[in-house]
Amino acid sequence: MWTGRCLCGACAYTIEGDPIVVAHCHCLDCQRGTGAGHATSAMFDAAGITITGDPSVYEQVSEAGNTVTRLFCGGCGSQLFGRNTGMPGVMAASLGTLDQADELTPQVAIFARARRHWDAVDPALPTYDGQPDWKPGDDV
Ligand SMILES: [Zn+2]
Ligand SMILES: [Zn+2]
Repeated sequence: MWTGRCLCGACAYTIEGDPIVVAHCHCLDCQRGTGAGHATSAMFDAAGITITGDPSVYEQVSEAGNTVTRLFCGGCGSQLFGRNTGMPGVMAASLGTLDQADELTPQVAIFARARRHWDAVDPALPTYDGQPDWKPGDDV
């Protein structure tokens, strides 16, 4: 069982099950959404996720035409989860909000074409210029 919460504690969550993939995303939307060089998140089966509190929701249409929904605490601004209509049934949890974040290791870096020169990640990670042609359940 994984647990996590936002900065102020108004929103919290539990997650059952193992992550499908853990990724760094360097896309511009993640840069603006996090205020940092990239978002690091773990994708889980949405059925195992229970959220308490009442996160605010921001929706936008991605480059690929999918609707991306970001769930964040309206009180403190922590971005907790993201989901994408291109990957139904899964939600990505922001690793920085996870109590057990040290137990996970990123496996891929995506949208590397937008990566800032000051935002280095492990060069040994498989890196994709954009969104890999990958669906949950495939091998990474
Ligand atoms: Zn909060
Ligand atoms: Zn992104």
